[in-house]
Amino acid sequence: MSKSVYINGELLPEENAKISVFDHGLLYGDGVFEGIRVYGGNVFLLNEHVERLFESANAIRLTIPLNREQVSEAVRETVQANGISDGYVRLVVTRGSGSLGLDIHRTGDPQLIVIADTIMLYPAEFYENGLELITASTVRNHPQALSPRVKSLNYLNNILAKIEGTDTGAIEALMLNHKGEVAECTGDNIFIVKRGVLRTPPPDAGILEGITRNAVMKLAVEAGVVVEEMTMTRHDIFIADECFLTGTAAEVIPVVSLDGRTIGNGRPGPVTRDLLQRFQALTRSAN
Ligand code: PMP
Repeated sequence: MSKSVYINGELLPEENAKISVFDHGLLYGDGVFEGIRVYGGNVFLLNEHVERLFESANAIRLTIPLNREQVSEAVRETVQANGISDGYVRLVVTRGSGSLGLDIHRTGDPQLIVIADTIMLYPAEFYENGLELITASTVRNHPQALSPRVKSLNYLNNILAKIEGTDTGAIEALMLNHKGEVAECTGDNIFIVKRGVLRTPPPDAGILEGITRNAVMKLAVEAGVVVEEMTMTRHDIFIADECFLTGTAAEVIPVVSLDGRTIGNGRPGPVTRDLLQRFQALTRSAN
């Protein structure tokens, strides 16, 4: 069955869902987006995603043509129209079409697009056995060049790092910031557990503040685990007891080695497994 795609107030069959080749989203990566999960027909943490979308848009001086409630409604409507019970939503806002050239004043029709689809999950074996990470040589965008806190349509920085991972058979790759500190992975945030304390790099390490990251930090606090945002280097990961990644698609996924160094005992650890269970309980309950 053909999917229905939402573009600026209309639900169109996918073959008719088109935007201009002059859209600056295509020409320059000028726009913002969100990736959101649907569990049991509920759009998970929709308000948080819509809020981050507006923050990203504001940071690049892009005016979204709808208000927050209207954007949320567009997402719910598209999910319903496609009969998605468990799936994935891609919410995109482009700068709109205009003449060639970088000037935002030559564009005038931002496109708000919602695609609701099924989801490709990481293979189950990674949740059972953990994944092996490598560090990419591609440095995460300098926060004063293009802040990683903006979820922009320009993902080349992450794509270049991801290529380094897939070239070596790793499904994710760790990215360091311009100071050589741990930032995040190409599409996931990173956590370690050391002597029972949960640690993750702070926003100013140059990361996207993941919605899953925030949800997992909250779950950890509720479970009585001490949580710290801490600047860290690769060494902190090598000597960690446990390590895991968080992301909308990945949820909580254990990491058992980095650059060939075994982390902890080389198996997904107890804190990781507990947080994965708590996260699954949260997503599978009504939200
Ligand atoms: N970092 C980057 C670079 C990402 O693209 C993403 C989302 N794909 C994340 C972290 C995780 O964020 P979230 O939990 O909001 O999906």
